[in-house]
Amino acid sequence: MVFAKKKWGQNFLVDNNLLDKIIKTINITDNENVLEIGPGQGALSEKLVDVAKSLSMVEIDPDLIKILEVHEKLSGLKIINQDILKVDLNSLKINSPVVVGNIPYNITSPIIFWLIDHIDSWDRAYLMVQKEVAQRLTGKIGTKDYSRVTVMTGLFFDIKICFSISPNVFIPRPKVQSAFISIEKRSGFNKNDVDIKKFSQVVRMAFNQRRKMLRNSLSTLDIDLDTCKIDFKRRPEQLTVDEFIDISNNII
Ligand code: SAM
Repeated sequence: MVFAKKKWGQNFLVDNNLLDKIIKTINITDNENVLEIGPGQGALSEKLVDVAKSLSMVEIDPDLIKILEVHEKLSGLKIINQDILKVDLNSLKINSPVVVGNIPYNITSPIIFWLIDHIDSWDRAYLMVQKEVAQRLTGKIGTKDYSRVTVMTGLFFDIKICFSISPNVFIPRPKVQSAFISIEKRSGFNKNDVDIKKFSQVVRMAFNQRRKMLRNSLSTLDIDLDTCKIDFKRRPEQLTVDEFIDISNNII
């Protein structure tokens, strides 16, 4: 057992039933490669290695690397001592991995943006996140959880909450509830159909004034109203991702 380091969000999973539930949920087949972010002491890794074709791990803490390297089920695997946010996934040369991570909650957003940046290099992803964040990522249209992050991630992903997790399954116990989420790529989405800069500008402006009608919050944008089919009397939480795409594609 090592001392958990707060700066790297180290809350280790210690509940065998929960680890089995994660494995059952992600349902890896023996022809799939897995990349685990933040394997820690290997609690999940030692189960992943049994079901995957290959397992690679990226862990920032050199002390944990030493433990992983002598772990009887993990030694000899690809164990990379790096900050995942600095890793170019293509350079790891893992064929279309399933990404799995019980990640530090303070870098949830950067990791999701890392997944967006590497969207062509992985197959599907599963992350443990703070429950409130999971609710916002999966917010239903028209609810208060439907927010800027829902729409920005909704452009690329279809995110679902698999199950909630109590603080009791970790050592040390975090102060918050957690949730395990699945991230699949949005079907039919083609990066080239959307100007992502314009899309994020529209989404940011609309949600910065989420109580206002779009005709007010987006008033400084030059939008081609002949081709854009949106009713600008609506508010941002009433618009689907496709409708935000429609607006951003009609900025002149
Ligand atoms: N997977 C282990 C488990 O479930 O017991 C550990 C989970 S712990 C919440 C998060 C892990 O991510 C720690 O091992 C921590 O050192 C590692 N970590 C933190 N920041 C990281 C980063 N930027 N890149 C890679 N690993 C990181």
